[in-house]
Amino acid sequence: MNIYHISYTSKFVGERMAMLSFKGCNFDCIGCIRKRNECDIYAEERRYIDWTFENIVKELEELNPHRIYLGGYEPTLDPDLIRTIENLSKLDAHIVLMTNGSKIDDGYAIELKEAGVNEVIVGVKAFDRKKHLYYTKRSNEEVLNAIKNLAAIEDAYFRLQVETILLPEINDPGDIEELAIFISQINPTISLFIEPWIPMEGVEFEEPKKVDLIDAVSRAMRHLYVVSYHPLYSEIKEIRKTPRKAKFIEFLPD
Ligand code: SF4
Repeated sequence: MNIYHISYTSKFVGERMAMLSFKGCNFDCIGCIRKRNECDIYAEERRYIDWTFENIVKELEELNPHRIYLGGYEPTLDPDLIRTIENLSKLDAHIVLMTNGSKIDDGYAIELKEAGVNEVIVGVKAFDRKKHLYYTKRSNEEVLNAIKNLAAIEDAYFRLQVETILLPEINDPGDIEELAIFISQINPTISLFIEPWIPMEGVEFEEPKKVDLIDAVSRAMRHLYVVSYHPLYSEIKEIRKTPRKAKFIEFLPD
């Protein structure tokens, strides 16, 4: 079992949400978000448990999450992943697998579906082959094939989402539009989520510009029905400085 960490919140947009993090990855991304922080930066409380799969399931049973995310590094490297999903699917939660897609051939896609995964999010670090190789040290061929393999068996109970990063010089708005065209040729109803790069100390890339984020979103929307995005990291930092509660004023007739 490769699970090394669990985080949980009862307030994930109103839902109870658990994230199981798996160790190990076959990519070597220049800006690996996991290496930056292996635990939960928002956690305010820490509990220690006897780290067996049975105890993890017991904890989850008590927490009773609406959603369980399987993420961290790369969950599909875990030889026990299918058995893990089969057990988690008994908890009656929506199970979401977050993956770099490199291990999902057509047979494994079917195994994931049959085990009880409800949603797969495939992360595409770069659409351009050479830039993907530079950024991750791996080809993106298997990643793009994973999208085809999962789309072929997608239904209301086994959904697919593609996630990509906006990263200047690696995955620019033009590259994201190419990715959107590639996805639309498979099925234009597959949703795309655009995540702007979070700047890292000591890493060569800068934070994308807002204008480029909007450009990437508008270009992708020309080809796909559903495109969404995350705000820039600098915007989030600004938002966090403001009080959490929105203030409303109401106007009524005199
Ligand atoms: S695929 Fe994800 S976990 Fe693996 S190296 Fe890249 S960013 Fe890190």
